[in-house]
Amino acid sequence: MPKKTTVRDYIRTIVDFPHEGIMFRDVTTLFADARGFRMAIDQMLHPYAGMRIDKVVGLEARGFILGGAIAHQLSVGFVPIRKKGKLPGAVISEHYTLEYGEAVVEIHDDAIQPGEKILVVDDLLATGGTAAAGIKLVERLGGEIVSCAFVIDLPDLGGRRVLEKLGMDVHALCEFE
Ligand code: 5GP
Repeated sequence: MPKKTTVRDYIRTIVDFPHEGIMFRDVTTLFADARGFRMAIDQMLHPYAGMRIDKVVGLEARGFILGGAIAHQLSVGFVPIRKKGKLPGAVISEHYTLEYGEAVVEIHDDAIQPGEKILVVDDLLATGGTAAAGIKLVERLGGEIVSCAFVIDLPDLGGRRVLEKLGMDVHALCEFE
């Protein structure tokens, strides 16, 4: 096997998952490797050196793994955005459209205080629908989003443009076609 030198090298592609014709970019192989995982966290943090970040918000589910590690490194709190019905306390919700149908994401309504500087984290940016819904939740609570950080951007699906139209700064470590 060729030597892995970049974060991208640790990402495995699974063909036809979860449907025929989909090339699923599997980050579990990145997370499972000590060097790869540390490289990813360090590189995701790099653009924000010296900037104020009060909380990290992670999108279910792989955003929890990345966001937890990033929050620990920054010594700040972590807030999950979850799929409908999973959070135990009072929540606010956002609906968004998927390729087939609709999804709902939620955040605890007391998880962010107005004016807090927030870093939004997920593993992969595709159409941007999931991240845009998460951004709306954070902004409805008065959070000020510093940036959105991803491991992977799929530029053909246009998510970066969607988030930039919302005024977001977007960082991703690598791209796949
Ligand atoms: P979007 O809402 O931008 O279209 O899709 C992004 C969301 O779907 C992210 O939460 C991401 O975890 C998930 N996702 C979609 N395709 C893939 C993929 O190929 N690999 C991984 N790891 N996640 C994906």
